[in-house]
Amino acid sequence: MTKEQRKNHIKQWYQAHSNYRKQNYQEHQKERIEYAQRWRQEHPNYHKQYNKTHKKQIQKYYEDHKEYIKKRNKNYYWQHHEERLKRNKEWQQKHSNYNKEWREKHSNHIKKYNKEWREKHPNYFKEWDNKYRQTENGKLAKAKQNAKRRHKLCFVPINKPFKNSVWHHLNNTLVIAIPKEIHSKCSGGPNVLEHRQRVLEYYNNNIINMLIKNYNE
Ligand SMILES: [Zn+2]
Repeated sequence: MTKEQRKNHIKQWYQAHSNYRKQNYQEHQKERIEYAQRWRQEHPNYHKQYNKTHKKQIQKYYEDHKEYIKKRNKNYYWQHHEERLKRNKEWQQKHSNYNKEWREKHSNHIKKYNKEWREKHPNYFKEWDNKYRQTENGKLAKAKQNAKRRHKLCFVPINKPFKNSVWHHLNNTLVIAIPKEIHSKCSGGPNVLEHRQRVLEYYNNNIINMLIKNYNE
């Protein structure tokens, strides 16, 4: 048998037994990992030494298999996603002070990193923000922000918003959800106080009807 023939023969055998090998590989995966771990513990300097003497070969291997390694790492990353989340959470709970200190110490770096991330992903927050703003919580948060910014008002709701409602300030603190239609009917006075008076009068005259209409339908 020539060298070439032997090579082919081996290749054919591997192809013919690929399922067997696969199964064998999977069945003994745990043992193999344990064995490798033990071996590493018993030979702590071997890898260091090997890395030193084979620097060029290792580098070449990484360059030649760039895509494969990338793919493998990515697979590994997502396969162990849940575990990692759990581990991270546990670690964070254990080291909450450490995290806090780290954040304070590196606040400039974090700010810079966040800024760069936002610039690289300009639509991420926009899309997320749009979705959030459609929700009831999002609408409420927005209304609060507006009240605070525009009028330096507080925002303490005394009822829940409903369909086609807007928030109206009864005074500088209390807000009430009222139908948009009523709100615009009562606006257009010379000042805020006049507007509030109109809404109040409307409510005094119609409160029972309004309650029935908005909460019993
Ligand atoms: Zn109003």
